[in-house]
Amino acid sequence: MNSISRTPARATIVEFLSKSYSPVDVSQIVNFLRAKNLSTNKVTVYRVMDFLLEKGFIDKVEFREGKFRYEIKRDDHHHFICQNCDVVEDISDCNISVLVEEIQKKKGILIKKHSLEFFGICKNCQL
Ligand SMILES: [Zn+2]
Ligand SMILES: [Zn+2]
Repeated sequence: MNSISRTPARATIVEFLSKSYSPVDVSQIVNFLRAKNLSTNKVTVYRVMDFLLEKGFIDKVEFREGKFRYEIKRDDHHHFICQNCDVVEDISDCNISVLVEEIQKKKGILIKKHSLEFFGICKNCQL
C-alpha cells in the first residue's frame, strides 16, 4: 500500500480493520498484532490510530462503553450494541433517507451525515 501502511504495525492494523465487520477496540488490535508476532502496546496503537484518524482513513466511534472503537471509514451506517455481551454489529441496510429528508424539511437544517445506535440483545444472547 501507500504511506498509510509504512510501518509493520500500521500495515497490520489497517489489515485488521479492513477485515473487521464491526468496530474494534484497542485491546482487540493489540491482541491481533501480538498474534502476528509484532511486539506492541496500547500507546503505540493509540499513536497509529491518531495517525489514521488524521488521514481520514478510519472513524472513531463510542457507544457509552467507556472506550472508543475504530473502523475503516465508509458510507453512513448504524450500529447495534448488545447490552448483554457488548458485541457491536454494523447495520447498513436501513431506510433512513426518508426520515433524513423529513427532518431536514421540518427543521430547515442540512444533514451531512448521520449515525444511529441501536441497543438491545444480540442473536446469540437470545438463545
Ligand atoms: Zn449479546
Ligand atoms: Zn460501523
